[in-house]
Amino acid sequence: MSWFSISALVTRSALHRPATRLYPFERRTPYAKTRGHIEFKINDCTFCTVCAVKCPTGAIVASKKDKTWAIDHGLCILCGNCVHDCREGCITQCREPWPPMRAKEVISYRQDYEAP
Ligand code: SF4
Ligand code: SF4
Repeated sequence: MSWFSISALVTRSALHRPATRLYPFERRTPYAKTRGHIEFKINDCTFCTVCAVKCPTGAIVASKKDKTWAIDHGLCILCGNCVHDCREGCITQCREPWPPMRAKEVISYRQDYEAP
């Protein structure tokens, strides 16, 4: 490699943005169709358990009796079945990934209700 091509390479590298990012401080914006983590809103949930039955990995547990709904993010493979099968629109899939986990992470929700 000649001195001229080396200096051209150095100049080009100095004038362009770096090819890499300072991850995790600088993160790429997710693509429009990125399958991120599952989000849940309990207010409209009827606890029909369809999402739990359709989940291929058993990541969701829903109980009509206790009015609870839980998801194990370690088991979820982001297939989106639960999003499509919930008729109440309680489950959505956002574009951002779930933060890295060091241990099993089950998020539980409970709907408040008046005792009969
Ligand atoms: S999230 Fe939707 S599919 Fe799952 S139990 Fe609630 S209403 Fe049924
Ligand atoms: S996205 Fe798929 S694996 Fe994850 S909770 Fe929903 S149905 Fe289960």
